[in-house]
Amino acid sequence: MELESLSSKAKSLRKEHKRLLTKLKAKKGQEIDRMFQEQHEIAFQSIDCLECANCCKTTGPLLTDKDVVRIAKHLKLSPQQFIEQFLRIDEDEDYVLQSVPCPFLDHDNFCSIYSVRPKACREYPHTDRVKQKQLFSLALKNAEVCPAVFQILEEIRKGFK
Ligand code: SF4
Ligand code: SF4
Repeated sequence: MELESLSSKAKSLRKEHKRLLTKLKAKKGQEIDRMFQEQHEIAFQSIDCLECANCCKTTGPLLTDKDVVRIAKHLKLSPQQFIEQFLRIDEDEDYVLQSVPCPFLDHDNFCSIYSVRPKACREYPHTDRVKQKQLFSLALKNAEVCPAVFQILEEIRKGFK
């Protein structure tokens, strides 16, 4: 699917996905984690993040204090300098990027701080983590950004028809 149409497609299917996730809540957590894990692996067999980078272009991560210290050190900045140059505090009091696309995204979609990237970037799109039940609202939101999440929800939905 073209990235341009992902957001509107996901928005139009949001109710269906919400319904699916409500049904899934009745299932055991481990069973849900297995479904997501399986579809996550299938999705990333065909989706190449280097041809996408939509998360880095449109969303950006939350950064923990540990992320700040680690990345600042890598950039040879003090944590305070790093914060002043790149971060702001959002309405939930979390550190986020001042702007997107992420300033660390290279023109060829590589992450220029890959080895020290934020934990949230390492874990994105979070569909292979345990306790998926607690991440349903995040999955709904990420389906508008990440083609893999959209595909995962769609494939699980097909299994329920
Ligand atoms: S939006 Fe999803 S598929 Fe695209 S780069 Fe990010 S994780 Fe990979
Ligand atoms: S730090 Fe790297 S992985 Fe994270 S949003 Fe920026 S470019 Fe993407």
